[in-house]
Amino acid sequence: MINRDYEEFVIVKDSEIHGKGIFIAADISEGEKILSIKGEVIDGYECERREEEEQNVYIFWSDDNTYIDTAMTDKIKYINHDCDFNCDIVEDENNGLMIIAYRNIKAGEELTIDYGYEEIYEECGCNSCINN
Ligand SMILES: [Zn+2]
Repeated sequence: MINRDYEEFVIVKDSEIHGKGIFIAADISEGEKILSIKGEVIDGYECERREEEEQNVYIFWSDDNTYIDTAMTDKIKYINHDCDFNCDIVEDENNGLMIIAYRNIKAGEELTIDYGYEEIYEECGCNSCINN
């Protein structure tokens, strides 16, 4: 069903949420694939080491003991957290991960996900937290 993605429409710009973010230059419908999460596949031990020793914050959890380090990618690593996120992470047909639209997204919007770890909610600077 999903044969194409929107990677070419994903652009990196300064974000109001934090540092840089990724933005979409096309209208996307809920459920559509936006881009694949590519990177270096590492195990849990290596994930912990990189997070602690290298302060690497670009690692995505894939499944049981598999993680994807996106530090060397040019787009996906800039995706920001928003409690009112518009993207979701799901498995693709090759057991990899991809970003899909969680709801309809308009061209120009910043793409965001729920980082899903406790610390993020404590001092969250996302638009929904600041405006509430
Ligand atoms: Zn928030």
